[in-house]
Amino acid sequence: MHEPLQKTVRASVCPHDCPSTCALEVEVIDKHTIGRVRGAADNAYTAGVICAKVARYAERIHHPDRLTRALRRKGGKSSGEFEPIAFDDALDLVAENFMRAEAHHGPEAVWPYYYAGTMGLVMRDGINRLRHAKKYSGFHSTICVNPAWTGFIAGTGRLAGSDPREMAKSDLVIIWGTNAVNTQVNVMTHAVLARKERGAKIVAVDIYMNGTMEQADLAVMVRPGTDAALACAVMHCLFRDGKADWDYLEKYTDAPRELAEHVRTRGPEWAEKITGCPAATIEEFARLVGATKRAYFRLGYGFGRSRNGTVNMHAASCIAAVTGAWRYEGGGAFHNNGAIYHWDRTMIEGLDVVDPKVRVLDQSRIGPILCGDRDALTGGPPVTALLTQNTNPVSVAPEQERVKRGFARDDLFVCVHEQFMTETAR
Ligand code: SF4
Repeated sequence: MHEPLQKTVRASVCPHDCPSTCALEVEVIDKHTIGRVRGAADNAYTAGVICAKVARYAERIHHPDRLTRALRRKGGKSSGEFEPIAFDDALDLVAENFMRAEAHHGPEAVWPYYYAGTMGLVMRDGINRLRHAKKYSGFHSTICVNPAWTGFIAGTGRLAGSDPREMAKSDLVIIWGTNAVNTQVNVMTHAVLARKERGAKIVAVDIYMNGTMEQADLAVMVRPGTDAALACAVMHCLFRDGKADWDYLEKYTDAPRELAEHVRTRGPEWAEKITGCPAATIEEFARLVGATKRAYFRLGYGFGRSRNGTVNMHAASCIAAVTGAWRYEGGGAFHNNGAIYHWDRTMIEGLDVVDPKVRVLDQSRIGPILCGDRDALTGGPPVTALLTQNTNPVSVAPEQERVKRGFARDDLFVCVHEQFMTETAR
């Protein structure tokens, strides 16, 4: 007779690279099996709501294609054939190949290459301990966040903003550069609460008519990479219509007169030509922002998807300063609150053994690097061994043809640490 199932519920946190970082309640059915995954009701931000993909996380965990054993390539690089081997043998194989690469070209020939597929300080960044202890080539993380983070910090001085829960206390929520309805349900939880309880308006700014744009009271569509022109025009209207909070600007910003002068000639008609957004829509957006003190700018990762993302984010982040929205609960701007945490990461990343003379390679240039481009290799040795963790560069890195050619090199040893078979592993 089978024992009745004793389900327990454990607290956890979502491991995905997603700004919501939801607190989870996970049903544990037995030592190896999870059941339903729900948003933690007692977490004030998650508020019991998670996205559809993580609500079905058991399907991922227990998927038949999950890699649960180490696999070694059988045929040549293009064969796509693998055979299972013991983990101890796999670790020996990796160590032997790394030592061989080091013996021929020095430790910088080994390049640990990682990103944020699985988050968490240890799961994501522990690879750096190996890198620093062994003086393997460094890694400059240039895909995804750099343009947006740099722009936000340029605008506010710090990678931190108003508590995202304050969206529920806002009278105007501007969701800019993120499709929250489909990818960040928690933003909508709080924005919709503000709409229901306070009659708040929701404005969405994006480059296509997505789920969030469809739910917004005002959808502002711009051409990719033109957000700064929109932001300049909005600020033009605010200064023009006497909606700037000069007391706030003089007290807390560094160049408000210069900014007002800069946007004086950059009105909605000027911006229409650049953004493709009708001047009347820009006027309406600016009118809403100017009329609402508690305006919350939720600025998303879309800003990181264009070469000029930094100036776009910088310009958008300045609007809240022009109206002094930061003064009010439910007002201000938010992109990421990374700067409010003060972890000591020495143990995780081996920061006590960093050698600043070791070269740092650019994540985005993996194609040229693997194809032997001297500039991309910063004049150092070739990369002949890679440890790839939590990322799939053959699918996501720029210059895909060069990336594929580089990975096809017969003299390149590649170890991929992943949950599923990826194009990079193949
Ligand atoms: S919205 Fe989904 S992917 Fe993002 S943190 Fe929450 S559960 Fe994870």
